[in-house]
Amino acid sequence: MRRRTFLHSCFGAVAGLKAEFLSGKPKSYPGHISEKPGQAENVLVKVIGTAQDGGIPHIGCFCSNCQRALKKPQLSRFISSLALFDLTENKTILVDATPDIRAQTMMIRERMNPKKTTNRYWPDGILLTHAHIGHYTGLMFYGYEALSTDRLPVYCSKRMNDFLTQNGPWSQLVGQKNILAKTISPGKRFSVTSQISILALQVPHRDEYSDTLGFQIKGPNRSLLYIPDIRNWKIWDRSVVEEVQKVDIALLDGTFFSPEELPSRDLSSIGHPFILDSMKILSEIAQSGKTQIFFTHLNHSNLALDPDGDARKMIEKNAFALAEDGMEFSL
Ligand SMILES: [Zn+2]
Ligand SMILES: [Zn+2]
Ligand SMILES: [Zn+2]
Repeated sequence: MRRRTFLHSCFGAVAGLKAEFLSGKPKSYPGHISEKPGQAENVLVKVIGTAQDGGIPHIGCFCSNCQRALKKPQLSRFISSLALFDLTENKTILVDATPDIRAQTMMIRERMNPKKTTNRYWPDGILLTHAHIGHYTGLMFYGYEALSTDRLPVYCSKRMNDFLTQNGPWSQLVGQKNILAKTISPGKRFSVTSQISILALQVPHRDEYSDTLGFQIKGPNRSLLYIPDIRNWKIWDRSVVEEVQKVDIALLDGTFFSPEELPSRDLSSIGHPFILDSMKILSEIAQSGKTQIFFTHLNHSNLALDPDGDARKMIEKNAFALAEDGMEFSL
């Protein structure tokens, strides 16, 4: 593909998302939980990205999924992230800072109360899961060269905090007080607004530079579990069935659908559970409808990305769903 055509496609991807998701009205999905009558939607989670760290279309890839996303920008996906809104306080909390943070910031800002927004915007806090490129490198835009934020709280594990504090360029953000790195303890609930509290859960992953967290996010009425990266449900020291049962909505690691999409890889080296296996473990909860379960952090190779494919049909037939950029859940 010629460079000009490619750039046009990329720009179209962002523009398409803008048109679709910045229109003010959340898209309606089968799994979207509607409001209780009379309850204002002022505490909510917006899904602002659902792709694995490399995004979709993926860099330098022209596989059938990436080609489809290049042709149809509405099928492109930003890198996995959530925005938490407490619109009563007009506060926003970001979960992970991705390389797509510039476009994702537009999605967040557009959803806030326009009467209360100012010319410069940054979130009131950021929760980080871990130190893989799709989850924290967006922090670079908060530094001196770009937004130059002032003491933006970044909540993370002790190891992640040490990583940010001791390694450039992140240490410059800490040194110049663009960010305040705050250590959180797994298993200890804390509040980020008067209506939203967070419980960090440690999960096993490829922990080279930092360990890895998932988050249970609780609002006044509902709660949501977010685990975009985990090595394997079976080696976790918690029961995924119990953790999913505790919440109303779960967004879980759906990087790969099945071994079929990775014919040349040694399966023991795959650092994520397959959607096929997760569906087996969680089928009873999904069928009961008690918890709405969505798969996120989708790799560009994921067989479920084909909207008309068998993998997608199987997911939906079994009462699961794929997370989509722009989805909203009230808490
Ligand atoms: Zn990741
Ligand atoms: Zn691809
Ligand atoms: Zn990771």
